Amino acid sequence: MDTLAKRKTSVLEPECAKEDLRTELSLRPKTFADYVGQTELIEKIKIYVKAAQERREALDHCLFSGPPGLGKTSLAHILAAEMRVGLHVSSGPALEKKGDLAGILTNLSPGDILFIDEIHRLGSVVEEYLYPAMEDYRLDITIDSGPAARAMKIDLAPFTLVAATTRVGLLTSPLRNRFHIQERLEFYTQKELMHILRRSAQMLSVQLDAEGAAEIARRSRGTPRIAIRLLRRVRDFAQIQSQSHIHLRLACEVLDRLQVDKQGLDLMDRRLLRVLVEKFSGGPVGIETLSAALGEEKETLEDVCEPFLLQQGLLQRTPRGRLATERTWEYIGYPAPKRENSD
Ligand code: ADP
Repeated sequence: MDTLAKRKTSVLEPECAKEDLRTELSLRPKTFADYVGQTELIEKIKIYVKAAQERREALDHCLFSGPPGLGKTSLAHILAAEMRVGLHVSSGPALEKKGDLAGILTNLSPGDILFIDEIHRLGSVVEEYLYPAMEDYRLDITIDSGPAARAMKIDLAPFTLVAATTRVGLLTSPLRNRFHIQERLEFYTQKELMHILRRSAQMLSVQLDAEGAAEIARRSRGTPRIAIRLLRRVRDFAQIQSQSHIHLRLACEVLDRLQVDKQGLDLMDRRLLRVLVEKFSGGPVGIETLSAALGEEKETLEDVCEPFLLQQGLLQRTPRGRLATERTWEYIGYPAPKRENSD
């Protein structure tokens, strides 16, 4: 995501460096059996897949939403593998013109999956072009221009659009309504992250004990991508210090050096909370003001920092802006002020 790329370097940064991307691809779960957590969602999806297979039809269009790194892309890959169909990958910003989309759609085989990441960033012209494709497997194209212009319809193979977004609220309702399967991915529990970490450690040929895994999981803000990234960093230290395996003391030492605290908050999160409390007396303060005060993109704050802070009760979103909670004040180290009306 280009907005995320602007975020200052941090080990919790969900944006991938090339090397991390390679590991991520190799560690990506390939089947439902490999996919840890999101249990209810997976149970439902398995039924939809089985039913579509029995009817020999394409799976209904799916929309997956949730913060970065929770497994939306992985799910698209798994769906293609489980349905035994081809997967074509694109993203909202990459589909600039109708022709970009037409090129992909006309090359799909029956049942294939088209995965569009960051669907909320699709331009409105391309979005409208997608409607008949999603609904009737048809493209409406215009040949020539001016008085000679002719409308033509092209039939497409029945396909499944799997879309991912970190900002479901930015989708127009006509687009959203065309997805018959809509699911939100949740943050992972510590137990689930430990499971992912142990599996990843095995694949990376590094020994990780239970306490070490628990510590990394605790500081991974409920996000598999971050857990794997932290594991890689701890592995580097283990290697250089000639440690045979990753244990609690090593994990704590490395994570402290990376400035990831016991709750998984990093420098950026702490800056956000500190500015909210110290500069704006706990708010409410508008996201634009907060973003200007921090020198960070509004989208980065909204997509990357806020979901976890909200989930942890360290931040509140109100119609008048962002508000510190009692926990925020406590976290920063001040007594919470008494509020008459905290909305
Ligand atoms: P998103 O598309 O939501 O940003 P990804 O699907 O790219 O997230 O997931 C990032 C990485 O985290 C994957 O490459 C994979 O290694 C790991 N991961 C995500 N979800 C799971 C899961 N449920 N089980 C195991 N690993 C996962």
